[in-house]
Amino acid sequence: MEAHRLSSTKPVQSLKPTKKIPLEEDTGKASDALPLPLYLTNALFFTLFFSVVYFLLSRWREKIRTSTPLHVVTFSEIIAILSFFASFIYLLGFFGIDFVQSLVFQPSPDVWIAEEEDDEVLLAKEEARKVPCGQALDCSLPPLPPAAPIVTVQKVFDEKPVTVLTEEDEEIIKSVVAGTTPSYSLESKLGDCKRAAAIRREALQRLTGKSLSGLPLDGFDYESILGQCCEMPVGYVQIPVGIAGPLLVNGREYSVPMATTEGCLVASTNRGCKAIHLSGGATSVLLKDGMTRAPCVRFGTAKRAADLKLYLEDPDNFETLSVVFNRSSRFGRLQGIKCAIAGKNLYIRFTCSTGDAMGMNMVSKGVQNVLDFLQTDFPDMDVIGISGNYCSDKKPAAVNWIEGRGKSVVCEATIKGDVVRKVLKTSVESLVELNMLKNLTGSAMAGALGGFNAHASNIVAAIYIATGQDPAQNVESSHCITMMEAVNDGKDLHISVTMPSIEVGTVGGGTQLASQSACLNLLGVKGASKETPGANSRTLATIVASAVLAGELSLMSAISAGQLVRSHMKYNRSSKDVSKAT
Ligand code: ADP
Repeated sequence: MEAHRLSSTKPVQSLKPTKKIPLEEDTGKASDALPLPLYLTNALFFTLFFSVVYFLLSRWREKIRTSTPLHVVTFSEIIAILSFFASFIYLLGFFGIDFVQSLVFQPSPDVWIAEEEDDEVLLAKEEARKVPCGQALDCSLPPLPPAAPIVTVQKVFDEKPVTVLTEEDEEIIKSVVAGTTPSYSLESKLGDCKRAAAIRREALQRLTGKSLSGLPLDGFDYESILGQCCEMPVGYVQIPVGIAGPLLVNGREYSVPMATTEGCLVASTNRGCKAIHLSGGATSVLLKDGMTRAPCVRFGTAKRAADLKLYLEDPDNFETLSVVFNRSSRFGRLQGIKCAIAGKNLYIRFTCSTGDAMGMNMVSKGVQNVLDFLQTDFPDMDVIGISGNYCSDKKPAAVNWIEGRGKSVVCEATIKGDVVRKVLKTSVESLVELNMLKNLTGSAMAGALGGFNAHASNIVAAIYIATGQDPAQNVESSHCITMMEAVNDGKDLHISVTMPSIEVGTVGGGTQLASQSACLNLLGVKGASKETPGANSRTLATIVASAVLAGELSLMSAISAGQLVRSHMKYNRSSKDVSKAT
């Protein structure tokens, strides 16, 4: 019975409310069999208990007075005795076990340890009942004793202690809720990022009336994201990381970390890795490495815009411009400038190498240097924006597909006919035909832009999240054309992926966070390359392309063998009844 289970898990006695606090999702029913609010069933059994006690005592007195033997009972007395035991058991179960447990167990006031995994939701509800949470707060909750800590709605993960908010924190929470302390100022005000996140989180719960109990707070280094990765944190989302591999590419084996919640994806990529390995490995070649940024500038006439275009694209001026550009960083080196003109408006696409950084910051600083420099000779130049979308960042655009952005990579492998049959469970001919009709013709019919592949973005996104890349750049980083051809007299399969705009880095941004950095470490490309600046990020790009090749190989095989739906039903659909999930 739910009422009984609730009463049997009581680790924080000091915060026990005398009244039930109504919660949005918790109607506080006594049980499914007795769907009444708890206060009603409590009142019912209290009344029953005291009524039958009164009745039985008066009957006892009457029997003594009339000298009637006690064991001679009437029907109404039997009913009264049964009601007495029923109400006694109910009240003992509801209040008594709680009391006994409070004597037997002396729980730490600041630690909440869930006993059963399955009870997670139940525990959160129970805890929420004890802790004021949002607008659902019942103001009749008794005030906390002065020294009593406030325990956040947070289950312990990995046995780490939960965050404890103090009375002083409570005052700050109230001021955030009241709007007198801006939530964004908590880190600078408190000088403690973890505490700031805990306070913000609690204030948010109170303001919205929504529980964040499933979103972990503890177990994360909030200092590491300050001023670089995320503002106003209230916790972190957990994404499982699976491993595909070993992926044999350019003679080296890699275990590829993939952060995903899509069932089948890692298993499928893993199968592709196996097919590549059994066939002698893949070869991945980096063709180009240059990040781009394209500001938009405007002139009074199209003639003046054309003057600047000619000036910037004149090889004689490149030396001067690159000296100015390269002042921004010891790693940023200008490679080229390409302009597009639209009437009086000029879009200047700068391309530069960026070492091991993905490079957006670096290239932007270099571009700013050049724009400042140009103002001398072109004082009538009006800078509309440092980015004019001709770059083009985080949007599907033909300029990236044709010119490349970040790392341009081509990767190939020859898969033995035997492996195609035994591991991929299909044939060379059907793969070649499917590739032609799906990835080439089908995508052409759909008017695809860089989407001549089966699911490159699946692999790119999973590796990007695991290794701390910017997941929004998955848009252009997944541009890919997959080619398949029967070779060696039709016995074997030649497969290649060509990806012109893989934007990756191994320094800066999310790459320096603990989890992401561990994944980069697994690949042997963590941080800046000591020997050759840029070598780590370039290796990472070749790994991304090879993993995409493995993913393409496996998914295309599943489709050609008609296995797709079956394998998804097996790995992508839990047998759990999701309708019962809370
Ligand atoms: P992004 O340009 O990708 O946004 P950041 O500017 O955040 O990256 O990070 C690049 C920073 O890392 C720069 O300050 C740069 O000087 C430094 N850095 C150190 N080693 C390297 C390296 N090998 N390659 C590129 N940048 C490096």
